Amino acid sequence: MKEIAIVGGGISGLFSAYFLHKSGHKVTVLESNKIGVECSYGNAGLIVPSHFEALANPGVLKKGLKWMLNPNSPFFLKPRFDLDLVKWIFRFNSFCTKKHVENNKYFLRDISLYSTALYKELLGNEDFDFDYKNTGLLMMCKEEKTLLEEEHLIKEANELGLKGKILNKEDIKKLEPNASFDVLGAAYYEDDGRVQPYDLIIAIKNYLESEGVVFKEDCKIEDINLSGSKIDSLVDDAGTKYVADEYIFATGVFTANIAKKFKLNIPMQGGKGFSFIVKKNDALNFSTPMILAEEKVAITPYDSYVRFAGTMMICGEDKTIVDRRVNNIRNASNNYINNSNIQKSDMEDLWAGLRPCSPDGIPYIGRSKEFSNLIIATGHAMIGISLGPSTGKIVTSLVNEEKPEIDIEKMNLYRF
Ligand SMILES: Cc1cc2nc3c(=O)[nH]c(=O)nc-3n(C[C@H](O)[C@H](O)[C@H](O)COP(=O)(O)OP(=O)(O)OC[C@H]3O[C@@H](n4cnc5c(N)ncnc54)[C@H](O)[C@@H]3O)c2cc1C
Repeated sequence: MKEIAIVGGGISGLFSAYFLHKSGHKVTVLESNKIGVECSYGNAGLIVPSHFEALANPGVLKKGLKWMLNPNSPFFLKPRFDLDLVKWIFRFNSFCTKKHVENNKYFLRDISLYSTALYKELLGNEDFDFDYKNTGLLMMCKEEKTLLEEEHLIKEANELGLKGKILNKEDIKKLEPNASFDVLGAAYYEDDGRVQPYDLIIAIKNYLESEGVVFKEDCKIEDINLSGSKIDSLVDDAGTKYVADEYIFATGVFTANIAKKFKLNIPMQGGKGFSFIVKKNDALNFSTPMILAEEKVAITPYDSYVRFAGTMMICGEDKTIVDRRVNNIRNASNNYINNSNIQKSDMEDLWAGLRPCSPDGIPYIGRSKEFSNLIIATGHAMIGISLGPSTGKIVTSLVNEEKPEIDIEKMNLYRF
């Protein structure tokens, strides 16, 4: 049994805490805010084996310039003088290649399927309840060109062993008879699903607390005391010291600066996105999550409300909500869902979150070479909820000095 300090109470920190606790370790979670309220809060909650293409891909590069010049585009880079940002952009561009997608698609498929299997396994657990549904995911297309691109991706997904097909308007109607959409067709990825991310995090936290795991909120780790090739202790903003055998940093977008203290270069930018929820009504009476393919808006239905999420603004750590971009999400949704007519006054729980984005679109999970009791788990960009259970399992294997159940070489901390 080891004493473990986990810094960061998002999905990565919570699943690490869960599997470490189940493995017999004594865990403390240290969180600068409240548990689960940063990037893991208002995201779309999609569990997506369909996302086997890394964020850095030729499609993004091709559309990149057009998007940069359009204030209403779903992808935007806020220009600023920042050497880290400039380096990040150069690296990101260099990964927007077919070769990079090819090199990583098997890994992304494998880790996603591993994580999805863990979600399914956890459904039957007696520790905590959560709302996971294997709903599938619709990539809704208005334009012929996008539908053709989706056809190509579905073919590739099938070649990778993922279940999916192209649906025409009638097929969509059969799947969702109580709602109507202004689209040409959709790609339907059957392996995908969704969770309510914040409810899940709180369910894990409540269970762990009942088991004696300590959670410290409003506790920002500001100092790290190093002793030779080990971390000796952490100190929070109130001056309290924490000593453990192993230290896990699951600090999301904030990890890049923290890592510098460990002489680790893990480039990262915040990919800001927004979301809001709308109570269910006749127009929003559907149960399959969807992504509006041309607008990159994710729409996730729950029992009593629907969450709308979108936009990727590469913007450092600035979390300001930008009204125009939120309105773009609302307008795009109204354009695809017939009779939805979502008004500003219908929007609740307006939120902004910073996706921790590595330049190659691959997470960083591994043990430090310089500091033997340090493990980092971050950089999940758009798929952190999807990869939550796999992240927790991998971290636990690293602590236990066991071989993880999947190959983690692609995520190594020293690739830049
Ligand atoms: C609009 C939007 C939609 C998304 N949709 C999806 C989706 O459908 N599916 C999916 O899989 N992913 C989605 N994501 C991405 C997903 O939300 C993230 O990948 C994931 O939440 C990252 O989790 P994390 O635990 O690594 O980081 P976080 O949730 O950000 O947690 C890190 C925690 O560390 C804490 N911390 C940082 N520094 C310190 C410190 N010094 N001391 C103490 N605590 C510290 C922070 O306060 C924070 O709580 C979406 C993101 C956005 C913005």
